[in-house]
Amino acid sequence: MTQQTTADLQRLDRAHHLHPFTDFKALGEEGSRIITHAEGVYVHDSEGHRILDGMAGLWCVNLGYGREELVEAATRQMRELPFYNNFFKSTHPPAVKLAEKLSQLAPAHVNRVFFTGSGSEANDTALRMIRRYWALEGKPEKQIVISRENGYHGSTVAGLSLGGMAPMHAQGGPLVPGIEHVRQPYWFGEGREHTPEAFGRLCAQAIEDKILALGEENVAAFIAEPVQGAGGAIIPPESYWPAVKEVLARYDILLVADEVICGFGRLGEWFGSQHYGLKPDLMPIAKGLSSGYLPIGGVLVGDRVAETLIEEGGEFFHGFTYSGHPVCAAVALKNLELMEAEGIVEKVRDDLGPYLARRWAELGDHPVVGETRSLGLIGALELVADKAGGQRFDKTLGAGNLCRDICFDSGLVMRSVGDTMIISPPLVITRAQIDELVILARRALDETARRLG
Ligand code: PLP
Repeated sequence: MTQQTTADLQRLDRAHHLHPFTDFKALGEEGSRIITHAEGVYVHDSEGHRILDGMAGLWCVNLGYGREELVEAATRQMRELPFYNNFFKSTHPPAVKLAEKLSQLAPAHVNRVFFTGSGSEANDTALRMIRRYWALEGKPEKQIVISRENGYHGSTVAGLSLGGMAPMHAQGGPLVPGIEHVRQPYWFGEGREHTPEAFGRLCAQAIEDKILALGEENVAAFIAEPVQGAGGAIIPPESYWPAVKEVLARYDILLVADEVICGFGRLGEWFGSQHYGLKPDLMPIAKGLSSGYLPIGGVLVGDRVAETLIEEGGEFFHGFTYSGHPVCAAVALKNLELMEAEGIVEKVRDDLGPYLARRWAELGDHPVVGETRSLGLIGALELVADKAGGQRFDKTLGAGNLCRDICFDSGLVMRSVGDTMIISPPLVITRAQIDELVILARRALDETARRLG
């Protein structure tokens, strides 16, 4: 693509396109990078740069770019039946087959799925299901959902209310009522005066304290990502989930495990909940379900909730035009079949995850790195100004964004959340490409240190 074409596209982009999660004015001044094509773990921009996509698009292109099998599945289904709905009493083969496949892959107590078009819609659906469940159980006062500060559950009004992103709450106007937030198990960010294990238990205790303050008879559910993604690839201390499980069981509180990022192999199991031995009642899913090739999400519904909704139910007044869209469902099904056939999840668990852990940890010796962490194929490193004391850079320096931009310019997509740098590469990445990722990351850290020094 010529220089002229890039400039033209940037001009049109500025003139007409409002991007998600973007400062519109700043983008107007800087212009967008235009991604034109991709294969495997690499994306290409309109200026001819090849960039290693350390974020799998937006945590979603699990099977990598350019899979012809997915293109064929979409084409075939578009010819056969491009759309029909699943409302009322109709359905179609792709939705039914995908529902069956998900039930096979999910933990034994999960046998049903409600389809949506995205992860945000999945969390909206989960909220409605939780409240409906308790109403049908004769406990309509059980309405409150406990969530976590800095959790991310999407960008619809219910999604952002369930999430705990302070800047989103500040812009969101009145939030959905009946959602309460507790502290997050972010040891490096908020708990370093404790051991990680003690801090994990304190964070679980905060949930119990909140339940007691609200009255257990009013609390419907606890929602959390097994590993927080958008908050900064926050891997909780080992003590956290076992303690949370105990608290939820003690007060009979439903667990919603938001698997939008952790699902479909990211942590080396089909679902992040399985890594932590959780038994969630509801599991919102999206992203890796179709490897991002087409938009599709859903809520996996455990038997406890499903049986009440079915037996006691009546009509559930909820659904989306694109719930279980046939083309998206056909692509998702093919994606899951390929993941199974290629043993992707096992490879992440047994080979790539441990390999990344080893290589990624080597970056811990860098003068501007205060901590590295990874699990499966998700990882983070914390930028610090003072390695010995773990002191952060002055916020006004924008160290994280600087490092992110340096990465991008030198051929690596690594995202920043404040001064936390995060990666979540396609699950088909090879060991050699992990080596390349680590080399590029180290060079970017060197350059970041040089510019800030
Ligand atoms: N839940 C989690 C954990 C997510 O990370 C995201 C998106 O990043 C969502 C929900 C929202 O998904 P979507 O952007 O498809 O609405």
